[in-house]
Amino acid sequence: MSNHPLLEVKDLTTSFFTSRGEVQAVRGVSFDVSPGEIVGIVGESGSGKSITCMSILRLLKSNGRVVAGQAHFEGQDLLKLAEHDMRKLRGDDIAMIFQDPMTSLNPTLTVGEQIIETIVAHRGSSRKAARQRAIELFELVKIPEAASRLNSYPHEFSGGMRQRVMIAIALCCDPKLLIADEPTTALDVTIQRQILLLLKEIQARLGMAIILITHDLGVIAEVADRILVMYGGMVMETGSVDTVFARPNHPYTQGLLTSVPKLRTAHKERLRPIPGSPPDMLRPPVGCPFAPRCLRAMQICVGEVPPIFEMGDQQTHKAKCWLHHPDAPTNDEGAA
Ligand code: SF4
Repeated sequence: MSNHPLLEVKDLTTSFFTSRGEVQAVRGVSFDVSPGEIVGIVGESGSGKSITCMSILRLLKSNGRVVAGQAHFEGQDLLKLAEHDMRKLRGDDIAMIFQDPMTSLNPTLTVGEQIIETIVAHRGSSRKAARQRAIELFELVKIPEAASRLNSYPHEFSGGMRQRVMIAIALCCDPKLLIADEPTTALDVTIQRQILLLLKEIQARLGMAIILITHDLGVIAEVADRILVMYGGMVMETGSVDTVFARPNHPYTQGLLTSVPKLRTAHKERLRPIPGSPPDMLRPPVGCPFAPRCLRAMQICVGEVPPIFEMGDQQTHKAKCWLHHPDAPTNDEGAA
């Protein structure tokens, strides 16, 4: 894995301008992705995780706008590229798969037709060569009887197989980065696991980087190298998956982890959901966005957004929480 980042996102800030006012969906998000790395972005609905990626790909709805920040991919700022260059880059170098393949696939065309069309359009291959490539891709994503399944329509596939078709289409042009937005949410647990393992296997074989967006910590634990925990449009904690799961340093991450069932405990554990609801991004809290739900909130948390603090255990492990300020009270003595 190269140390030079493939993607560097800096202070990304995105808003939607609605009749009710400005929805501040993403607020100063920074992260990077190295070649061949799997970065998981986790958070509740509305945390800004999908909008972060849609901003980078410039696929926001018409009322959305990146109001500040940069997103360098192999050195060029995606936010400044001409639209036709950006269109070429999407699909060629950066591909995306979504939660529901049915909304991305055309129900009136065979899946073969759709994948062949994509290969011809992006690669300029002949139809014969594109068909051969389509068969290879179906084999790569383990669709049985690849050649004959090219003649099937999307509705003739199961949910899991449709997601495999979408992965095959995404891989048409050997992307350097694959963004997978909740790719397994609509699938049952067994199929979910098969798709995740497939993604990991393909990543290892082809060496591409993956950004995996999910609300499911189990999914991150299964495949990701590094995790970003998002809340209220900001990155609350980041680090290697092993470190963050072993030593979560942000009260929100701690809350997420205690709300996940532990499969290996002998006794039945009651789930502890985080009380309260996510902030209204039309009027986000002035200070830490998690303050209204945080049991350890202090006075400063309500008035000032915390900076990112590096954790002592690893330079790459960081948490955006006032509890890590050198003057912060230890344990619960500072709870409001
Ligand atoms: Fe809780 Fe304050 Fe930390 Fe926010 S900054 S998570 S409110 S302790």
